[in-house]
Amino acid sequence: MGVREELRGLPSVDRLLQLPDLAQAVSEWGRELVTDAVRSAIDRARQAILAGEPCPPPESLAQSALSELERVTHPSLLPAINATGVIIHTNLGRAPLSAATQAAMTAVARGYSNLEYDLDAGHRGSRYDHAITLLCRLTGAEDALVVNNNAGAVLLTLAGIAAGREVIVSRGQLVEIGGGFRIPEVMQQSGARLIEVGTTNRTHLRDYEAAIGPETAALLRVHQSNFRIIGFTTNVSLPDLVELAREHDLPVIDDLGSGTLLDTTVYGLAPEPRVQESLAAGADIVTFSGDKLLGGPQAGIIVGRACWVRKLRRHPMLRALRVDKTTLAGLQATLLHYLRGEAEREIPVWRMIATPPEALAERAQRWAQALRSSGISASTVPSVSAVGGGSLPGETLPTTAVVLEPGASAAAALGRAMREGDPPVVARIAEGRVWLDPRTVHPDEEADLLRVVQDAWERLHG
Ligand SMILES: *Cc1c(COP(=O)(O)O)cnc(C)c1O
Repeated sequence: MGVREELRGLPSVDRLLQLPDLAQAVSEWGRELVTDAVRSAIDRARQAILAGEPCPPPESLAQSALSELERVTHPSLLPAINATGVIIHTNLGRAPLSAATQAAMTAVARGYSNLEYDLDAGHRGSRYDHAITLLCRLTGAEDALVVNNNAGAVLLTLAGIAAGREVIVSRGQLVEIGGGFRIPEVMQQSGARLIEVGTTNRTHLRDYEAAIGPETAALLRVHQSNFRIIGFTTNVSLPDLVELAREHDLPVIDDLGSGTLLDTTVYGLAPEPRVQESLAAGADIVTFSGDKLLGGPQAGIIVGRACWVRKLRRHPMLRALRVDKTTLAGLQATLLHYLRGEAEREIPVWRMIATPPEALAERAQRWAQALRSSGISASTVPSVSAVGGGSLPGETLPTTAVVLEPGASAAAALGRAMREGDPPVVARIAEGRVWLDPRTVHPDEEADLLRVVQDAWERLHG
């Protein structure tokens, strides 16, 4: 048969819509959406015929239309299992939330709330009044302000305090966080002029001192979140920076990035700067993320002296960085865990950090055994987890990983098959093997994880 006859064999849209599967799809999704999917399936078949293929049977056209429909209607953002062992994994949504945090967010999402309503007075209030008391109590700050994320917190702080003027920062602190957030570029957007001092590895107090002039609005310190310089290095301590700033009547802004309220050295990690310590050392404004080591929802938190925070609260840019009601509710619930002294038990990020190596080894052995009993080549190997999220670079926590050996050069394919699972499982692929770290997998996710791995293995090995 020629191309023309093959093309004539293509069924009409209406005929395809009468096939049972598509009729069912119409009842679920409506005629318009399914018709579009059918049209594009027919279009694709027409292209294929013109390229020399035979005309497909109606059933396969229907299948192709259903796949197209699935592509359109399937939500793209879905829960996934993080088996990488990186606790604050930005690509996987950073901090999982505590049960109380989830409940608080659901409660305000369900209906109305007093987000911007003063219940005592019976009139308009401010969303920025929520969480202030908790933040001040926990950090020792005079005032607090919550925005959409820490990039926004830094932007607003610089715009509010230093637009049109100069901010002095060490060359060793001009960091790029993942996703293209670069301190120099943010400063430019804020309207503040960046004055770089010192060198990459060494910056002295006299470098700051020499740069201070009539145009100086603030001294900025940025935490070297995701890298470390070793060797011949000098950095000015925060107390020294504060003393210099005081002499010149200037504020010190401290961007902590992750920041933390708890002491990381308790868990055998290097010290990550604590928010309360930074304020106690005299920083006027401290900014940090809600969803890094704090372990709450995405937010940018600004704490510090009342005179500066008040200024930021009045800035027009605040509206563009506005925080959502569910975030505020979640943040309050997360902060309450700290106030109750139960953060390590209730906040998933801290629970994962605090999980003892023996418990991880026990879980890994259980997984490996279950997987081996379904014919999978799985063993346990001592390994390390990372905190991630632009905190504690190079620091690790001891763990036991389950290592899958799917055979020559099949690790990438197994990893991919696991990512295609429902739910997707993201693992670490290294040394031609697939590594599963129990530290970042919630016990509730274990059954799903093992099922997805088994399915993926079977798809690969038949
Ligand atoms: C992570 C980080 C930011 C950005 O915080 P987000 O909450 O991701 O917007 C800014 N500054 C530093 C030093 C950081 O580590």
